[in-house]
Amino acid sequence: MKYRTLLIRRKTEEIPPEQLEMFIKIQQQFREWATEWYKSGFKAPMPEQNPLKYFAMKLKYVLKLIPTNGLKKDKWNVPLPFNIQLRINNEKDVGCGVFIDLSKGEVRIRKWGGGTIVLKLKKSSIKWIKERVEEGGKPVLAMAWVGRVKRSNIVTFNVALTFARDVEPIDVRRVLAVDLNGLHNGVVWGVVEKDKILASGTERPHLSKIGRLQKEISKLDSLCAKKGEYCRQAVAAESRLRRLLREFADEAAKKIVRLARQYKALIVVDAPKDESLREIKQSRYAPSKKIYLDVGRLKKRIKQLAEWYGVPYREARLYSTICPRCEAKMEELPNRRVRCPKCGFEAPRDEVPLMWTAKRFSELTPSFSSLAIALAAF
Ligand SMILES: [Zn+2]
Repeated sequence: MKYRTLLIRRKTEEIPPEQLEMFIKIQQQFREWATEWYKSGFKAPMPEQNPLKYFAMKLKYVLKLIPTNGLKKDKWNVPLPFNIQLRINNEKDVGCGVFIDLSKGEVRIRKWGGGTIVLKLKKSSIKWIKERVEEGGKPVLAMAWVGRVKRSNIVTFNVALTFARDVEPIDVRRVLAVDLNGLHNGVVWGVVEKDKILASGTERPHLSKIGRLQKEISKLDSLCAKKGEYCRQAVAAESRLRRLLREFADEAAKKIVRLARQYKALIVVDAPKDESLREIKQSRYAPSKKIYLDVGRLKKRIKQLAEWYGVPYREARLYSTICPRCEAKMEELPNRRVRCPKCGFEAPRDEVPLMWTAKRFSELTPSFSSLAIALAAF
């Protein structure tokens, strides 16, 4: 089974205040029980009354699907888990905790002890759900929680809808190599078949827009001590910047996985190790460039999408400054070109990882290369 999740995030002001207060109270109670249950090695007794009893049962089910991330500061901050039903036309409502009603374009959250919370679905969410259904996905669980957005002080009401489907891995014959070393130079990808590069391209975030936002943020930051309003504007600009980078990662991941399916290619990602990233970040690397080193989201999105579509995925080193002919360390020339001092080989730096992919093709693809060799023998 493969999973994909749609996250619906709403400002807490959009939830009726009495319901919000009640929801937070139930969430708190459930987390207290869950923490105790966790600490007892999952032996503490189950709650006897709803809604906690309902959530405890669902949590047991969730744990079968998703590994738990465990206690944080001695607490288990689990979201409230629900069973789920999707109505596409006019199927009977069987009374699950979360009811997605596509015909009305809304999701209803119930069974938590404070009535029904109704959220209108955005067009993009409806489209997302329809696409998953068309691919054969089925909703398997929902989770809802009130919590703070990462790296900010904004508290939101969140619902995550998880879909699952069975996937057969696709039959691959090529390699789609992705060089993920910093977004400012672009994410270079190439489709390689044995020693041939069939297609290649570069995905770039909107660098000038990002640069402008960064300037705005540093200006606002320097004014922040004078007037609180500037601090708020700085925080808002910062979150616009993060959103821009997130959107880039999501779009680039979609494109890369789409290409892999189209070319029937195994995805090979060359991403720097976390330790080496930390070193670069701590070094005197230009501060404005540091945000481009956060390739984690893009890598994660590629991996998730590849899994969902049954595209094989692996990570490997594909060098950009080691000579693909004689393996000597190359010199960097202006305009992002590289030259080998030993054998004289010269190329645009961005093409070198693709040449390495071609050079290592059979090693990267042992299963289908050996098949190709076996077929070639006839
Ligand atoms: Zn060389």
